[in-house]
Amino acid sequence: MAERILVVEDEAAIRTVVEYALKDAGFEVLSAARGDDALAVLDDNEVDLVVLDLMLPGVDGLEVCRRVRTTSQVPIIILSARSEELDKVLGLELGADDYVTKPFSPRELVSRVRANLRRARSTPEHGQMLRAGDLEIDPVARSVTKNGEEVYLTFSEFELLHKLASAPRRVFTREELMNHLWQGSFFGDLRSVDVHVRHLRQKIEDDASAPELIRTVRGVGYAFGREVSKA
Ligand code: CA
Repeated sequence: MAERILVVEDEAAIRTVVEYALKDAGFEVLSAARGDDALAVLDDNEVDLVVLDLMLPGVDGLEVCRRVRTTSQVPIIILSARSEELDKVLGLELGADDYVTKPFSPRELVSRVRANLRRARSTPEHGQMLRAGDLEIDPVARSVTKNGEEVYLTFSEFELLHKLASAPRRVFTREELMNHLWQGSFFGDLRSVDVHVRHLRQKIEDDASAPELIRTVRGVGYAFGREVSKA
């Protein structure tokens, strides 16, 4: 069965090009021209991925992203006309998985869609539960608890945490971590690793300003700083 993509874009010319490119690549496509319409479509339909413009009438793209993330881990690719770094980072902070800056080629967008879907389908290699102090990482359920309380992580945050905790004390470079996140198909800004780590720390560290779980190894990358037991 064809995977179903929701395209949210108010500019008809861009929406049409994106719809055409995705259909041509074998995807089923739903579309919406407004943020509120997009949320309604998502309420009524299962979709495999969302392509989301930021500047939208009704509810803007950032708010759509925020609301989707309260209930769903569906991959979201942000389309942004604004090329400032802040916008890209903001999209990631809101739990978007990827971004494409306008103008983009339909072929580039289709390849990002494929990479995101491939990533969403994949499962970690090791099915063992990992424990580090009061933190528990369950790779089968893709859930994390701290002191027995569920911690909500985005797809990328979970993958980074699981990767680091699977090999405690091993130092991973930013490139290694991004290549893990994108299964070798990463291209773009390595600083998005730092954004993911910052958010991860806010969610799992006792004190995010003095992190003990995710250590920064200056000039190299990151390492998990605690003993991990496997169960
Ligand atoms: Ca727009």
